[in-house]
This record gives sequence, structure tokens and C-alpha cells, in this order.
Amino acid sequence: MSKVVKFGGSSLADAKQFKKVADIINADPERVYVVPSAPGKRFKDDTKVTDLLYQCYERVLTGEDFAKAFAPVRERYDGIIKDLGLSFDLNEDYVKIGKDFRSGATRDYAASRGEYLNGKILAHVLGYEFVDAANGIFFDSKGEFDADITNACLGAILEKTPKAVIPGFYGALPDGSIKTFSRGGSDFTGSVVAKAAGASLYENWTDVSGFLVADPRIVKNPAGIEVITYSELRELSYMGAGVLHEDAIFPVRSANIPINIKNTNAPEDKGTLIVPTADSNTKYLVTGIAGKKDFSVISIEKDRMNSESGFMRRLLQVLENHSVFPEHMPTGIDTISVVVNSKELDGQRDKLAQRLKDVVRPDHFEIIDGLALIAVVGRGMKSKKGTATRVFAALSHADINIRMIDQGSSELNIIVGIDEKDFDKAIRVIYDMFILSEQ
Ligand code: ADP
Ligand code: ASP
Ligand code: MG
Repeated sequence: MSKVVKFGGSSLADAKQFKKVADIINADPERVYVVPSAPGKRFKDDTKVTDLLYQCYERVLTGEDFAKAFAPVRERYDGIIKDLGLSFDLNEDYVKIGKDFRSGATRDYAASRGEYLNGKILAHVLGYEFVDAANGIFFDSKGEFDADITNACLGAILEKTPKAVIPGFYGALPDGSIKTFSRGGSDFTGSVVAKAAGASLYENWTDVSGFLVADPRIVKNPAGIEVITYSELRELSYMGAGVLHEDAIFPVRSANIPINIKNTNAPEDKGTLIVPTADSNTKYLVTGIAGKKDFSVISIEKDRMNSESGFMRRLLQVLENHSVFPEHMPTGIDTISVVVNSKELDGQRDKLAQRLKDVVRPDHFEIIDGLALIAVVGRGMKSKKGTATRVFAALSHADINIRMIDQGSSELNIIVGIDEKDFDKAIRVIYDMFILSEQ
């Protein structure tokens, strides 16, 4: 049985962290495939290597000499190598990266070198084979991740490579050039590798002891989540619980491989186990609370809109034509609120508003900004009454105005829309209502 282990940026931020990582891997012979991120922050105001690489790319673009622009990146890796006391260097790689920059490498290529170089060091430290993700992880000509080809090619490589380090975050386009996933994408790579390897477990090592009921930057010492289902996790990560990339569950879910979120700085802690299904008899009624800011509501009122044939279709068509994707659409008899990401309105707000007015001819039309969405998620909610009432009671008691309510038909979540200014407070009072009061 093999395990795939992914280590995030803070787990590999310096030599001290590298040693912890090597100890963790060496403690279990099943930990044979390792997916590293680029070195992350060593302290609060530090800069992640990925961000240094984006800066380097911009600087070279504006005419600065590569060696000078690349120096802060090089310093990080050379520092790690020196502090680990290795007789190893990355000089050949630095020369190659310089050459690639000079011949017009892309921004994605630049960013990908963070995990590439870190993977080289880690493979050396562990005595594992280095497998360049560009040889096993593929995108199609439209730039979409190609799951089938990747699974076949990467599977074949891993079959003949018993122990390997595969850098996270990137793969190759059909022409061989590098493309990265979105930020935090090494989590996705780990999941892809777990599937290709037919792993028994995907361990995702980070800087917290698993998924917490709420963001620790908002709620002080939140309770941990021992077990969470794929669907609950999907809701929470989509709604901003930052621990795991929102797409990371898809590859492992299709292969029924559980994920264990673990803490590199406290390896004995059990962490969170993410499983296909779980008992709905949970310790707390709510499994997790997460939220995101920066939403807008397109509010439309029109008498008898419900009985107007094709009303909804026309509305959705206009939105689709402007690449605006509704997140939620709570409706009344004569009203509809379309909740969208505010940034999707950038540069086309007036044009879209005019088009909607022309096509659906509303009695009243308004776009309201500054909405935050909060998701209260729990597989236990289905079998218990009164969850929504308690969410509303917590918010109203704290004098927070609820501007939208949406409950998924699976009864796995309740979503409320509130003013952005109330965001942190809302998460805290919901947490108090469901967790503190049940402890
Ligand atoms: P890595 O660099 O290991 O990928 P990330 O920074 O991407 O780590 O994710 C871990 C961070 O996610 C934690 O340090 C924490 O600040 C944040 N976080 C946000 N929401 C939660 C939550 N519900 N539970 C735990 N951590 C959370
Ligand atoms: N290094 C990349 C980032 O900072 C990918 C990752 O860490 O998962 O987004
Ligand atoms: Mg991450």
C-alpha cells in the first residue's frame, strides 16, 4: 500500500521545516510519493517564494537583469541547502531558468520553478527519484486539466518509480510549455498523484492540525473536525475555508481515496479525515462554518414574473453572454435576487444592467454591492430540526441584518448573505451558537 504525502509552503519554508518533513516521511515506509509546494512564509510578514517568482517575472519584463531579479529566490534555496549542510547545489538549474527567462518564458513557467526547485532539494534529501510534473501532468489545448491522459501517463511513470518526489502546482500544455493550476494548486497535484498511484491515503500536511470548524484567524482556538465527508468539505472549501484547494477532492473522490489533513509541526495530532460518507450522528450539529466576501446582488422586481413564459431563460441568457455566473438565486413571487461575484461585473456593470433592463423589462432594478456569504455546513443538519432558526437567532441577537437566505435541497448547508462589515462577527456568533454552547 502506498501513501501520497503533500507538504504545503510553510511546511517547507526553511531547513528546520525540511528536517521535520524528512522525519515524517522516513517514519512510515508507505509514504513513497511526495508532492512539495514552494517554500512559504517563515514568519508573518515574509514573502512566499511563489510571490517572489511572480515579482521576478515582472521585473525581468520591465528590463531588469535576470540574475538581479532572481537573487531573492536564489537566496531562499541556497539558504535551505546551506542550513541543511548538503553537498548539493542547484546552479545548473539556475542557469537553465535564466536561459528560459531570456528566451521569453511565461509567467506560469516562472511561478512553477518554486515547486520545481524545492522538489529537487527534497528528492536529494530523501534519496527519492525526482519526477518533473511536466512529464506526467497534462492540460489540453484549451488549458483545461486533462485527467485521463494524466492518469494514464503519471500512473505508468509511478509504476516503475517506487519512491518519487513530484513537484506540485504545474503541468504541461500539449506544446510542452508549462501551465500552473490556480493558487494553492499543489493540493490538487497531490490528489492527482494519489489517484494515479492508486494510493490508500492522501496525506495533506500543513500548519494546522486539520480542518477547524471555523477560520482560526476569525475564531480564537476553534474546535477541530475529526471526520468530514467529501461533500461537506467541498461546500466549505468552495466557501473560502482555505486549508485545501477547492478542486483537490475531485481526483481522489473518483477513486474513493480518503484524505488526511495533518500538521507538520504536530505530527502526532490525528488531524482531519476526509471520507466519502460518514455517520450523521456528529458531535456537533454543524461540521464547519466558512464564508467569502465580495459578492453583489442583482435585484429584479417585476409583477407576475413567475407566470411570464421564458423569463428565467432570458435572464440567464443575458448573464451567460456577459460571463456572469450566478452563485445563488433566491426568488419570491415577483422578485428575484441574483447573487454574483462582484469582480465579474468589473468593466461591464452598466452595459449588463442596460441589457438586463432591455430584455426582462423589470419594474425595479438595482445592483447592490458589499455582500458576504456565510455557509453553515453539516451532514447532521438533515435529521435535526431548528438549525436555520438557530442561525437566524444568533445573527439577529448580534444585530446583524440577513440579506439573503438559501438552503440547499440536500440540507447539507444553509447560506446566509450579510453586509461585509458584519463578516467576522457573524462567523463568531454562529460558532458560539453551535459549538461553544454545545461544549
Ligand atoms: P499550506 O501552505 O500548507 O497549503 P494553507 O495556508 O494553504 O497551507 O492552508 C492552511 C491555513 O488555512 C491555516 O494556516 C489557516 O490559517 C487557514 N484556514 C482557513 N480556514 C481554516 C479552517 N476552517 N480550518 C483550518 N485552517 C483554516
Ligand atoms: N506555491 C503555490 C502557491 O503559493 C501553490 C501551492 O502552494 O499550493 O499558490
Ligand atoms: Mg495551501
